[in-house]
Amino acid sequence: MQGPRPSESSGHAGARGERVNRTFVVLGLALALLVGAAGLSGAAPKKKKGKKGKPVWPLPNPSFKNKAFVPSSANRQISGVFGPRLKWGGARYDHHEGFDFFAQYDPSTYPRGYHPVLSVLPGVVSEVISPANPERTETGRKVVITHPFPWTAFGGSKEWGPVRTAYLHLSSIAVKKGDRVKAGQEVGRAGQSGYTSTTHLHLNAYRNGGRDVNVNPARLFNPKLFPGVSLPIHKSTVEVVWLERDKAAGTALVRVYLARNVYVLDGFVFAVDKDKRRSVSFEHVSATQRAKRDTGDEDLVPGLRIYPLRYNGGGAIERVNSSNVPRGWPMARYPVPGGKGVRLGFDLLATDVPPSAKKFKLTVFGVLGKKITATGKRFKAEK
Ligand SMILES: [Zn+2]
Repeated sequence: MQGPRPSESSGHAGARGERVNRTFVVLGLALALLVGAAGLSGAAPKKKKGKKGKPVWPLPNPSFKNKAFVPSSANRQISGVFGPRLKWGGARYDHHEGFDFFAQYDPSTYPRGYHPVLSVLPGVVSEVISPANPERTETGRKVVITHPFPWTAFGGSKEWGPVRTAYLHLSSIAVKKGDRVKAGQEVGRAGQSGYTSTTHLHLNAYRNGGRDVNVNPARLFNPKLFPGVSLPIHKSTVEVVWLERDKAAGTALVRVYLARNVYVLDGFVFAVDKDKRRSVSFEHVSATQRAKRDTGDEDLVPGLRIYPLRYNGGGAIERVNSSNVPRGWPMARYPVPGGKGVRLGFDLLATDVPPSAKKFKLTVFGVLGKKITATGKRFKAEK
């Protein structure tokens, strides 16, 4: 995969800030980074069941019990990851540009979910957006911090410049433009200002290359630094199922299940014989195809359609099944099994597949260089 190309750098002025109490940490990544690259030993992820054995979503990330990671709460959880997901409330493709952190735990202390939001790294507040009418803006109240760390420290290229992070949908802001902040310092409170239906923190990571060019925040959660927090792309964390080959329709369908906590996923190469044009990098989409971020189920790249198996955001499970999935979707023919834990993943449909095609190979890769490959010798159904 080619990486996104930088074009221009950007940065915008902000508005006023508000001071609120600071207490505890929403994102303690920075603290851990300060401790050093020696890394932290996170607990291996375990499955957690809700009432009556039903899966709960968002799933608590047990690694957040590591107090060096997030001192505040055992219930911290990433409720939405970078990349394609189902549009909230409907079976449409939606490209999510950052991470969501669920913020509705501990209602006795934070009845409205207004948990403190902390800078993930030390830096300088480079932008504060506090619109008079935040509900009419996409991002709501927002703080951007520029950090004195290059992206090269997190697997990026030199042109990406320094790491910038942004904190969106805040209920209040605790800093102003130009403020120096420490790692773990409160920048505001989680809220639901802007276009969102739940109280949560949306975390963005930006690089140079245009205004707000998004990078997968998983780069900051490098599994080497935080084992167990984010699982690598690995044959034990990625399951590939070859579903259907239809020669008359010229299609080939493969499903990819991801273990939860696989936050580093960046894309796929679905090779048909030696033809590798069916490939996509979600960071690349973010950087260069912003108009395609919300395109329904049209081809994201020529010859490849992506159908996320479910919405990966906070709130209730938006299960796509035979009762609400559009008829043309692969999930209508191959329902996502339920009851064995929440299954995240994608159906990848190759179109324009020549009837003579013999070899199918899927490569799943992450932002940190890991990948797995699977070869399709036989599909479950062949027409
Ligand atoms: Zn979000």
